[in-house]
Amino acid sequence: MPKPNRAKGSLFSEEELPPNFASWEVADRAEVWVAEVALNLPLTTVYSYEVPDSLREVLSAGQRVEVPFGRGDKLQTGYCVAVGSQQRSSKRLKSLYSVLDREPLIDDSMLKLTRWIADRYLCGWGQVLESVIPAGVKRKSGTREVLAYELVPEWVALLAKVKLPAKQQAVIAVLQGANGPLRVDELCERAGCGTGPINSLKEKGYLRPVKQRTSAIAPVAAPIEVSPLFALNADQKLAVEAIIRAVQANLYTTFLLHGVTGSGKTEVYMQAIAEVVAFGRQAIVLVPEISLTPQTIRRFSARFPNVAVLHSHLTDAERHGYWQEIASGEVQVVVGARSAIFAPLPHLGMIVIDEEHETSFKQDNTPRYHAREVARQRAMLANIPLVLGSATPTLESWQRAVSGVDQLISLPSRVEDRPLPPVVIVDTRDDPYIKQGAGLGRQLLNAMQQSLKAGGQIILFLNVRGFAPVLWCRSCGKGTKCPDCDVTLTLHKELKAAICHSCDYSIPPPQVCRHCSAPGLSFLGIGTERLEAEVRARFPAATVLRMDSDSMRKRGSHATALDAFRHGEVQILLGTQMIAKGLDFPNVTLVGVVDADTSLHQPDVRAAERTFQLVAQVAGRTGRGSKGGRVLVQTSNPDQPAIVHASRHDYIGFANDELNARLVVNAPPHTSLARVVVRGPIEGDTLALAEQIAVKLKATSYCQTKQVHCQGPSPCMVTRLKGLFRFQIQLNAVELSHLQAAWLEVAPTLSPVANLEWMIDVDAMNMR
Ligand SMILES: [Zn+2]
Ligand SMILES: [Zn+2]
Repeated sequence: MPKPNRAKGSLFSEEELPPNFASWEVADRAEVWVAEVALNLPLTTVYSYEVPDSLREVLSAGQRVEVPFGRGDKLQTGYCVAVGSQQRSSKRLKSLYSVLDREPLIDDSMLKLTRWIADRYLCGWGQVLESVIPAGVKRKSGTREVLAYELVPEWVALLAKVKLPAKQQAVIAVLQGANGPLRVDELCERAGCGTGPINSLKEKGYLRPVKQRTSAIAPVAAPIEVSPLFALNADQKLAVEAIIRAVQANLYTTFLLHGVTGSGKTEVYMQAIAEVVAFGRQAIVLVPEISLTPQTIRRFSARFPNVAVLHSHLTDAERHGYWQEIASGEVQVVVGARSAIFAPLPHLGMIVIDEEHETSFKQDNTPRYHAREVARQRAMLANIPLVLGSATPTLESWQRAVSGVDQLISLPSRVEDRPLPPVVIVDTRDDPYIKQGAGLGRQLLNAMQQSLKAGGQIILFLNVRGFAPVLWCRSCGKGTKCPDCDVTLTLHKELKAAICHSCDYSIPPPQVCRHCSAPGLSFLGIGTERLEAEVRARFPAATVLRMDSDSMRKRGSHATALDAFRHGEVQILLGTQMIAKGLDFPNVTLVGVVDADTSLHQPDVRAAERTFQLVAQVAGRTGRGSKGGRVLVQTSNPDQPAIVHASRHDYIGFANDELNARLVVNAPPHTSLARVVVRGPIEGDTLALAEQIAVKLKATSYCQTKQVHCQGPSPCMVTRLKGLFRFQIQLNAVELSHLQAAWLEVAPTLSPVANLEWMIDVDAMNMR
């Protein structure tokens, strides 16, 4: 056992105990205090530790503790998830070593929720706790420990009788008037003295020091002027009323708010939240990280005085400051990305997930939770409504709603009855410009000219960043790949680099082929940088702005760019996903989808769904003002159902077709899907382990009785990533519980293999 470095209580290490210590301890007491501890390990088990007398008073569930663990009893940090007395059994428990937090970091309801996540997504409870509590909260960032003083209670009665110097009396009087300890600086100021009298009182034993934490950052979210509610149309009114009924009845219900783009979903959320706030309760609004634009934040803070916005750019200190404010109940509405679902609101009244179809709600590393499912569970535990909003819901949510498990609310028309824009599918297979490698076809060019002539603004959408996604050798026909990944390098002209979009490997643009050394590589395909150059060449008089994660690196550049577009300083805005979401500009009269096929050919069961969502979302960016608008979608698959349905704004038609197609292949949402990925540096070893796991899975009773289907192993779509080979096994089951049980039967039998890793992703969304 390592040498104790933190003096907390009077603890012995096990080696220091007298040999008969355990036996006379047993004879002494029949009961023992036991803490259940979840460690940051991929294990669902919790471990029991005896709580020494010295720590009994200070320990409660939700605090971090240090415990000896494993061979050699190395100290590990874990979370105390339960503590209480037990009958002493013959099995001797190890002793808990120390308690790291003064106060619990999370409460009972959050302990329940995190336990549920561990069980649902097949990972360790301690892993979940470690991930959901922000680092800044654990470290208490932005606060510092200061010395404060309080009166020693035993002496208070006596103090009236003793004669003390005037300054010391003043100090006593100030402390008697205060309702708790006071910091030294505060005490000096209020008593009008230096530290001398305080030290004298301390030496006499009348005062005692206590350590306090104080926040170093200013309180957030100053109230600003609150804007009035908008008038609702009939559909919006019905939606708000249905949600409010659930709020008033204290009932868990999940509502799927299916509203076309521009139908005023946000206004529905806000009016329902206003009711929650009027009840003295609070709300969480989850939005995709990409939608955390100043526009969204402004709308919420203009309506509610105390809004906390949790985005990924917060410092640890800011995050900790917000966390404390939220826990104190001062914040009415928390707006944030995925992890805001764990915000510690004391009286949660409602949860909203806007754009619920966004894949960013699923976490891509352990714990691989989906915020929608966590929200559902949290809402259930708290008996409150959950509202999912989208113009293009996931088929998972859609099926639950149409089958009556959840409640469907529709907003079929746009506000002020503005029509949805006409969408034209442009077949690019015979376009002369596209054939020569251009991004803009003849029809789209004409439409752009017309739009600019009429004074309208244009949005061009292309979901590929960089200049060209493929560097190709004419001599040997090979592409230039990342040395560590099975991914071609993308040429970025502005950054003067060829970059791997999977691992950020970067080299100067190669002049010769890596395989045959022939000079003169061809740049194939079109990224946003290349599109920008083409647009500038075609429309030299127009003002053009490109928005993607390369051009928007600086903090605040996103807001500046959108402001410029809003004020008409920019005529053509082009970019990636960043411009597909939530932007609402009335003067946009043309939207061009430069290549609708980019997401269509992915070997992923959700490829069609993603394509539909993308086209429908981008199309929603126009026709919002009095000038109307139209959408051109360039594709070489003009008959693809996802594209045809999207061009007709026909979500229900698409959903029906796609649900049928998924039924045939036993895919979600008809089944639950999990993916086991094994990775390692040596291909043969990695495959061998994957095969071993697959054999074990296939031997379980669940697979034998066909309750669970196990496929693979097969190479992952990106076979090699960051230098590691990757193989996957797919598990499908009608009942998720069968799938979980099969894995829980196999996982404990797998012994660690050097350099090899495996993980399971339940409800996998990312199939790369
Ligand atoms: Zn070559
Ligand atoms: Zn790479």
